[in-house]
Amino acid sequence: MNLSDREIREYLKGKDDAKLFAEADRIRRDIFGKDVFLRGILEFSNYCKQNCLYCGLRRDNHEILRYRLSNSEIMKCAEEIVNSGISTIVFQTGEDPYYSDNEIANIISAIKTKYNIAVTLSLGERKRETYKLWRDAGADRYLIRMESFNLKNYSNARPGTIWQNRRKCLEYLDELGYEIGSGIMVGLPGDTLEDIVTAIKELTSMHLHMIGAGPFIAHPQTPFSNKKNGSFDMTLRVYAIMRILNPLANIPSTSAMESAHLRGRMKGLQVGANVIMPSFTPKRIRELYNIYPGKNVQDDIDKDDLQAALDMIVKAGYKVSFARGDSPLKSSKFKVQS
Ligand code: SF4
Repeated sequence: MNLSDREIREYLKGKDDAKLFAEADRIRRDIFGKDVFLRGILEFSNYCKQNCLYCGLRRDNHEILRYRLSNSEIMKCAEEIVNSGISTIVFQTGEDPYYSDNEIANIISAIKTKYNIAVTLSLGERKRETYKLWRDAGADRYLIRMESFNLKNYSNARPGTIWQNRRKCLEYLDELGYEIGSGIMVGLPGDTLEDIVTAIKELTSMHLHMIGAGPFIAHPQTPFSNKKNGSFDMTLRVYAIMRILNPLANIPSTSAMESAHLRGRMKGLQVGANVIMPSFTPKRIRELYNIYPGKNVQDDIDKDDLQAALDMIVKAGYKVSFARGDSPLKSSKFKVQS
């Protein structure tokens, strides 16, 4: 199904949420049925060499405690994910040069040798050779969110980084045969409604296997502490429009949704998302992976993150799936604009 620019704009403004959300859910059920795929996420370091103005992990934030997991701790968490029955592990960190490329390749290879599990990486911008090394070691998927398609706002929010380089990373990953994922932060300071329309169109043109979005949430320990939060309702509309335009993409209902709104992840599932990523980062450090306030703060302390996710999926009217949940979109037609 196609939507014109005008229709996207009108839906983003809230012209007819009931119709938009129902259509997104209908398409999601046509493709995936009631299934919600699970990805076990492990955030194994909260060090970052970058200094993004919105992020609690930025290198100039000296107020947070930093941690890194050892290789054996990483393997132990991977085993916990496998034992839970989940078929995808997601490794996420800030951009932390502490772990060598080979060390990470060895971890991927050890996991792929030992377990029948998909490995998704979200380790930021790297060289093509590094992506190749990790792909050769067995990595299946890579997530790298563009965050904004307004180049001025992007370079303001992510000083010292270059939008075109990040986009180039997606091209490399695609060439190397990864399933690729990208997305945006809804309400990044400076971004307008027109920027979101552009982002939706650009992301759709990439034919991504995975699309992620979450609202901007102001972090008190960052230069964007006094900026206005992104709209939760607008983010739901982005989910729904992305589902309509990208029926085959895996779309996670992100933890930022939960931080922005009570039962936000559940609402994300009801407007087109089909993936939940429970955290397997050890509890003693989980709250330190504090990209935005509320991230990884357990809403129900009597349950672990997995049990809370399983209950929520059923309550939302869907079915838990422990399958790998590869994207039905077999090959991306992504091409970088010259
Ligand atoms: S957004 Fe990512 S790259 Fe930027 S400071 Fe945070 S962890 Fe680092």
